[in-house]
Amino acid sequence: MADAVSLYNKIAHMHLVPTQDEVVRVLRETDALRDGHFEYPSGLHSNEYLQVPIAMRYYQHQRMLTVGLSRLLRSHPEIRAIIPQLSIVAPATAGLPVAYGLCEALRANQVYWAEREDRSQPLQFRQYLETRSGEQVILVDDILRSGKNLQEMKALLESRGATVVAVAVVIYQPTPETPSFGSLPFYYLAKLEASYYADAANCELCRKGLACEKVRI
Ligand SMILES: [Zn+2]
Repeated sequence: MADAVSLYNKIAHMHLVPTQDEVVRVLRETDALRDGHFEYPSGLHSNEYLQVPIAMRYYQHQRMLTVGLSRLLRSHPEIRAIIPQLSIVAPATAGLPVAYGLCEALRANQVYWAEREDRSQPLQFRQYLETRSGEQVILVDDILRSGKNLQEMKALLESRGATVVAVAVVIYQPTPETPSFGSLPFYYLAKLEASYYADAANCELCRKGLACEKVRI
């Protein structure tokens, strides 16, 4: 891959919010974004597969992406006004580099996250982790694809008395089923539009006889 430091410096000197093309270039150069024929655990087939943590391994990329995202959040006056009290919360470990990068760039109050014991279990916080009633939260993740984790996380936070004030992800890669967050401010750095097929029977790539790779997440 290209030298991450020089690429970061080049982008950082241009402006503080990377463009869609710059984000996609980082994802491709690190092999975080792959073209091919993939099958998700849900059975969905696609021509693209993205693992943002592959790009986030490089601190310069993590910094460039999260500083960019923090700028978008800061541009919202109501969010800017409450930054010192904000909690940054991720629904999975892949969201942690995003959460800590945002917390540092914004100088927000705290970061925490939820996990599952295994795939069949609901999201839960670490034991003894208390959510304050009236706490204001920015919900973050590396990617919004199915939206299931973020929706479940939002419901869990609300059941603990917290209020989600915004959703922020590095990449928005919606599928036909991705839910909307309604009127909640929603920020992302790049939108990727992959082709999705409901299953093998409806997949153009299967029809062409292209080898299919199963992906775990
Ligand atoms: Zn297929």
